[in-house]
Amino acid sequence: MLSTEPRKSHSGKDYLKKANLEQGKPSPNQSLVPLTAKINHRDCLEIGGCDLKTLIEQFGSPLYVLDEITLRTACRQYREAFNSYYQGNSQVIYASKAWSCLAIVSIVASEGLGFDVVSGGELYTTLKALETMGYTPEQIAQQIYFHGNNKSLEELKLALEVGCTIIVDNWLELETLTQLGKQTETKTIPILLRLTPGIECHTHEYIRTGHLDSKFGFDPNQLDAVFTYVSQQSCLDCRGLHAHIGSQIFEEQPHQDLGEVMTEWLKKGQNYGLVLSELNIGGGLGIRYTEDDDPPSIDQWVKGVSQAVMKACDSHQLPYPKLIAEPGRSLVGSACVTGYTIGSRKEIPELRTYIAVDGGMSDNPRPITYQSLYRVVVANRMSEPSTETVTIAGKHCESGDILVKNSQLPQTQPGDILVVMGTGAYNHSMASNYNRLPRPAAVLVKDGEANLIVERETYDDLIRQDQLPERLLS
Ligand SMILES: *Cc1c(COP(=O)(O)O)cnc(C)c1O
Repeated sequence: MLSTEPRKSHSGKDYLKKANLEQGKPSPNQSLVPLTAKINHRDCLEIGGCDLKTLIEQFGSPLYVLDEITLRTACRQYREAFNSYYQGNSQVIYASKAWSCLAIVSIVASEGLGFDVVSGGELYTTLKALETMGYTPEQIAQQIYFHGNNKSLEELKLALEVGCTIIVDNWLELETLTQLGKQTETKTIPILLRLTPGIECHTHEYIRTGHLDSKFGFDPNQLDAVFTYVSQQSCLDCRGLHAHIGSQIFEEQPHQDLGEVMTEWLKKGQNYGLVLSELNIGGGLGIRYTEDDDPPSIDQWVKGVSQAVMKACDSHQLPYPKLIAEPGRSLVGSACVTGYTIGSRKEIPELRTYIAVDGGMSDNPRPITYQSLYRVVVANRMSEPSTETVTIAGKHCESGDILVKNSQLPQTQPGDILVVMGTGAYNHSMASNYNRLPRPAAVLVKDGEANLIVERETYDDLIRQDQLPERLLS
């Protein structure tokens, strides 16, 4: 995925025009920009009715700008699609690891989605947001699923307190939960079993094998032993199965195959007296970062998965399980952009021109980690034609700290606002303080209003946890 050839784009305006190929009801994951993106009378990019340059003046730079409409639209499209295509119960749960904070939890919850959390910290964030919204403990318990391949005892105890469903990953966890369950005895522990189904999909290709080299979940050949064990523990309420096969997936077949394989395993549970009524097919639907990305729409993806699961159930004479999907990227990815201020410029004749911005790998580690591609525009020069090819560099002390290679941009000046699209997923949540850069603020925009949802870190925040032992001062 290292194609760095730029597509001809004449201006930011032209880019916006082709960003939304579908008319009518665009699927957020297929849009290159947030759904509310437009150009205002100042020739400046606007998201959620807010001018990007003004936002940066007001909230500082760099800045994550989250479009509420795009996030809500994605949530609704998942819910509506399951309601129209799947004839059993269903639940859509947000994979919080994409980006978890109180405001996002509250928006996603208000759209009727639940949550997948993978750590005590994500669980705590979700819990606090839902409590503040007035959810009862019973409602909270029903909305949360707890993942992880090495949950600590502390995390498991917190999960039991909350009463959420625990997605059990391995033998140690099964045994620990059994012990914890025997101590309480008053209620059973709701669990799902995570399996590694031999279907893996990471970019544009997928593989099917008998066994997968993965640190997550039980191998299919352990299924008999696990089912036997679980059926003997009265404190465990095993409700079903889970699998997650990868991320940024553009094909529909892998999840449909997964639905079929897992339906067979649900059926197999009957031999052990287990009533497995939940099927969690994970997340992974991709989004459009560049013009070359071609994911199916949310609607299309849900339709395919629903039909595959129903068909498999019909052929096994199995009632339709509660079908759960746990998307992360395709809910929040396209809803956010990051605004930076352009600074220095370095021209290497006949080789390359670098333009540096005031952030980089600390607020968006995806390019340096996964060679991920992004598209950018200059927010305050949207109608100006692209006249040069530049490479956008971050400000970190790493040569690899490059946000975008070979981007077509108009002539820029220091102080211009560079906007990177599609930064909602795995940007803020993966952000670091590398080089002791304070993490940027995040604002939520809607109808011309901007609200701070994550404060910018300060230098004092950076030394808050530091301790200076007395003896170093003598
Ligand atoms: C990461 C992850 C997800 C979400 O993946 P996306 O590609 O962001 O949709 C869902 N479930 C599990 C178990 C995951 O690890």
